[in-house]
Amino acid sequence: QEASETPVKRVLLAAPRGYCAGVDRAVIAVEKALDLHGAPVYVRKEIVHNKYVVETLSDRGAIFVDETDEVPEGARVVFSAHGVSPAVVAAAEARSLKTIDATCPLVTKVHKEAVRFADDDYDILLIGHDGHEEVEGTAGEAPDHIQVVNSPDEVDKVTVRDPDKVVWISQTTLSVDETMETVRRLRERFPTLQDPPSDDICYATQNRQVAVKKLAPSCDLVLVVGSKNSSNSVRLVEVALNSGAGASYLVDYAKEIDEAWLDGVTSVGVTSGASVPEILVDEVLAFLAARGYGTVEEVRTATEDLMFSLPRELRSDMKKAG
Ligand code: SF4
Repeated sequence: QEASETPVKRVLLAAPRGYCAGVDRAVIAVEKALDLHGAPVYVRKEIVHNKYVVETLSDRGAIFVDETDEVPEGARVVFSAHGVSPAVVAAAEARSLKTIDATCPLVTKVHKEAVRFADDDYDILLIGHDGHEEVEGTAGEAPDHIQVVNSPDEVDKVTVRDPDKVVWISQTTLSVDETMETVRRLRERFPTLQDPPSDDICYATQNRQVAVKKLAPSCDLVLVVGSKNSSNSVRLVEVALNSGAGASYLVDYAKEIDEAWLDGVTSVGVTSGASVPEILVDEVLAFLAARGYGTVEEVRTATEDLMFSLPRELRSDMKKAG
């Protein structure tokens, strides 16, 4: 009788993963602004929530600021993919800033929903994480009508003026399952709760979660490449753990992987958040290959081909420049 074979160490690579259409557009917007106008180009907040992207653009001459009052009068500023409230637009105008709005069109869509329901005098329950830039921007569209619901446990705290005139909307990068649980509990309290006209959790967030759900049950470990302030990346770790992965960790770079995480591990799942360039995934795959995880099997659950045109202000600058 031969000794049983050592199991083959392998990587299950999620697809889709990494850059979404909104991130791609926002990063290109800053690069094009630098090409056209030269450094510095100011960017309000991190253009997308990824350390590497922010460091790379900083090296090229982007200056990241927290608020527009840090931008010199009349200078050029890019608004990040997460969107801004009308108050931020007004503050930029007051300083005569030249703005390039890189808000993802799928975030803008949620802003428009908020404005429409506020105009109709609904109480709007915005499911999302208090303090996240996207939530601040959306809530700022109608502060008198919107309240933020962070999690299912907060449902009991909600108070509304008319329980028959309530709608929910959401941040684009949440866990689909947790959001549906929040909605279920809200509907118990407000049976006529209205749904948003279309999914607010965006296609990229949903697709990355579905792919992780598929591979997680076969994985002893799932590595998610992404930054700690990236909502959709953090959600991928939660989804992996809830879907049966033995363990799951978020890393910005391959060098953050702790060798001890690989003890006794045969199958490693790898994915990345919507703000993560593929080069960082390649580095993780190289790290794993060097430790015997050389076989890479792709687990694909969707194909994405969405692309957004660049921000309007930038397209007109590019036209002028010929
Ligand atoms: Fe847009 Fe979704 Fe990407 Fe956010 S994660 S930038 S909402 S496509």
